[in-house]
Amino acid sequence: MIYLNGQFMPIEEAKIPVLDRGFIFGDGVYEMIPVYSRVPFRLEEHLTRLEASLAAVQIRNPYPRARWHEVIEAVIAKQSFDDQGVYLQVTRGVAKRDHSFPKGVEPTVFLMSNPLVNPPRESIERGVAAVTANDNRWLRCDIKSTSLIGNCLLRQLSAEAGLAETILFRDGMLTEASVSNVFIVWGGVIQTPPKSNLILPGITYDVIVELAHANGLPIELRDIPEGEVRGADEIWLTSSSKEVLAVVALDGKRVGDGKPGPMYRRMHHLYQEFKQTVMRAGGKASLPA
Ligand code: PLP
Repeated sequence: MIYLNGQFMPIEEAKIPVLDRGFIFGDGVYEMIPVYSRVPFRLEEHLTRLEASLAAVQIRNPYPRARWHEVIEAVIAKQSFDDQGVYLQVTRGVAKRDHSFPKGVEPTVFLMSNPLVNPPRESIERGVAAVTANDNRWLRCDIKSTSLIGNCLLRQLSAEAGLAETILFRDGMLTEASVSNVFIVWGGVIQTPPKSNLILPGITYDVIVELAHANGLPIELRDIPEGEVRGADEIWLTSSSKEVLAVVALDGKRVGDGKPGPMYRRMHHLYQEFKQTVMRAGGKASLPA
């Protein structure tokens, strides 16, 4: 069952008007919330990011937080599976086609939930391969916008090569990947670009940074030149569905010794432990800084 504008229905019955600005202009924002054992993970943080995206594109937030909680809980309860990925989208609504914003229009609200698919064991144990590309997206990559053609084109580069991701550089510096954030390890230090308008502020990114701090692993948020990524001992991808995944080949060249590195194995273990003890339990899902 999906949720559309106040009603639950089977996805086959869900319809939106062709003049929805989400359809015409990609004029909307979204969230993907992982759910473990029916407990949404970092729901407040996801709702804060949603509010930031809505504010950035000047779409009125149609619901107060309490209502978002209710709707998300209801969508979760209507599924038969326990680990879920709740997809939530808000568009500016339906109006005669005109680039400037319409007045007095109700935003369209759509939620669906699918089984949460984490990487297969083989990818976790052996790592994955990625290619690189020039980050030619717009300059507001911090907004979780449904206008994803830039990301789709970049992801397609690696998909066509049968690879896991496309890692992006802008003006010679690492930004992120087409559907994930990127960390490297060099000289025993975990490193990742600081949050800015050039990357999506990943919820998993925050978890990795917190886990590093809480466990005494050296971590630095800094701008990382392309050459340092290419020469890194380890490269990791992070996202709600990938969790943390090692890149062992970049543009056909080995990363480190071509196997998931020791820091990756440590972080993956910490993440899994955190998932079992905190995420599934629905306990206080944060760590001391
Ligand atoms: N960067 C991009 C471009 C993404 O699309 C995503 C997730 O879809 C991420 C980073 C990771 O974000 P999160 O950890 O919140 O899933």
